[in-house]
Amino acid sequence: MLDLDGEWDMATLGVRAGQVRTQESEHSEAIFPTSSYVFKNAAEAAARFAGEIPGNIYSRFTNPTVRTFEQRLAAMEGGEACVATASGMSAILALCMGLLQSGDHLVASRSIFGTTVILFTKYLARFGIDTSFVDLTDPVAWQAALRPNTRLLFLETPSNPLTEVADIAQLAELAHAHGALLAVDNCFCTPVLQRPLALGADIVVHSATKYLDGQGRCVGGAVVGDAKRVGEDVFGVLRTCGPTMSPFNAWVFLKGLETLQIRMQAHCASAAELARRLEAHPQVQRVYHPSLSSHPQHELAARQQSGAGGVLSFDLRGGKEAAWRLIDATRMLSITANLGDAKSTITHPATTTHGRLSPEERAAAGIGDGLVRISVGLESIDDIWRDLLAGLDA
Ligand SMILES: *Cc1c(COP(=O)(O)O)cnc(C)c1O
Repeated sequence: MLDLDGEWDMATLGVRAGQVRTQESEHSEAIFPTSSYVFKNAAEAAARFAGEIPGNIYSRFTNPTVRTFEQRLAAMEGGEACVATASGMSAILALCMGLLQSGDHLVASRSIFGTTVILFTKYLARFGIDTSFVDLTDPVAWQAALRPNTRLLFLETPSNPLTEVADIAQLAELAHAHGALLAVDNCFCTPVLQRPLALGADIVVHSATKYLDGQGRCVGGAVVGDAKRVGEDVFGVLRTCGPTMSPFNAWVFLKGLETLQIRMQAHCASAAELARRLEAHPQVQRVYHPSLSSHPQHELAARQQSGAGGVLSFDLRGGKEAAWRLIDATRMLSITANLGDAKSTITHPATTTHGRLSPEERAAAGIGDGLVRISVGLESIDDIWRDLLAGLDA
């Protein structure tokens, strides 16, 4: 392994951490598309199976390309261990299976990814794990939701699509005072903009599908944390239940991590510029992006994050009709609910990602009919603006 002991900057870790060169002296990381591994003799096979000597046995357990991705992401998040998974959802499932059991209670922010809500309420509930949902930005509500059997607090910050920001350090303290853990889905910020473990969180989960890849190619996920909980407990779930990351996908994500720092800076700069322009447009009622001084947690985001992120949303005057007209008038932006891509995407949350909620639930969540969400990509900001102006000025 390349000697990366000591202090290295994020950009360097993204390019270099975790790489192990083979005897072929390759410069770029190798892909190991192998399901199993060969032993020198029967005694070595027995010793590896018994865990007496380290080494690969089977790619459901370990794979060199996947391990390189895990070590690189662990270094970037500042965690002792990382377990890569087949998707972001299987990362969250593996986290819960590894650390919770029947009779446990978890508290989650109401604004988390919709499928995570379904995982908690439809599937974990079946196995005797109860979830309470609270307002992400209301620490009193988090405190009030705690029960004697609360084991885990789970949140996403900034939230989707309204970019609300939670105080990670404060909620970590609350969790620990109660003997519970704090897990943060760091999908929107990535370790480049926010390092939850350094702020006191115990576990970070990722949908690598989004910014870690950054070019919309593969589905994957990861759990990062300490050697016991993640390196043993969550790894044990992966090893037994099998939602592992493929070596090919791990290689794509490795290449994504190499450019993550520079991409996140560009996403942030363009999103902040777009937020400023939108806020000044007469058709726009309100813009949601932590870079704006009008954002309710602007100061907290500036303290907690090293950039405001690449996703923003805004309320259009004229409701759903105006929102759909704007979306349909674009020629370049992709109409898709995905995010974290080099390609800018535009979506109408009320009829897509939040379409299954009742009108009352949507109103309570602040998802208006005129709300439009943009994941700002890496195209020219002037071209993105021109593409939106066609619909805004119509
Ligand atoms: C997409 C997403 C997930 C789920 O990840 P998949 O890779 O699609 O399984 C989880 N959390 C957040 C915040 C997401 O955006």
